[in-house]
Amino acid sequence: MTRGVTETKFGAGSLESITLRRRVVKGVVPEARVEGYFRIYCGAGNEHHQRIRGPWTRMDESFKDILADDDEVAKELVEAELDGWTDPCAS
Ligand SMILES: [Zn+2]
Repeated sequence: MTRGVTETKFGAGSLESITLRRRVVKGVVPEARVEGYFRIYCGAGNEHHQRIRGPWTRMDESFKDILADDDEVAKELVEAELDGWTDPCAS
């Protein structure tokens, strides 16, 4: 593990296969990233395991209210990674 990076793993639930990492760049800029797998239950009733490997993301103003909450931060970042996800069952 890189120095200064904290790792959070989650209990049973939608984030159970996701790892949240946080770091503070230059002592002031908080960043976070998510990695792992996310289960998606699609409209066709199937379960998909989507590989998630988000970039280091700067926790800017939009994270202000959820910054202290690991679950919320992880969900937000996972959601960003799933943006544009298309259901393979639909093609
Ligand atoms: Zn599907």
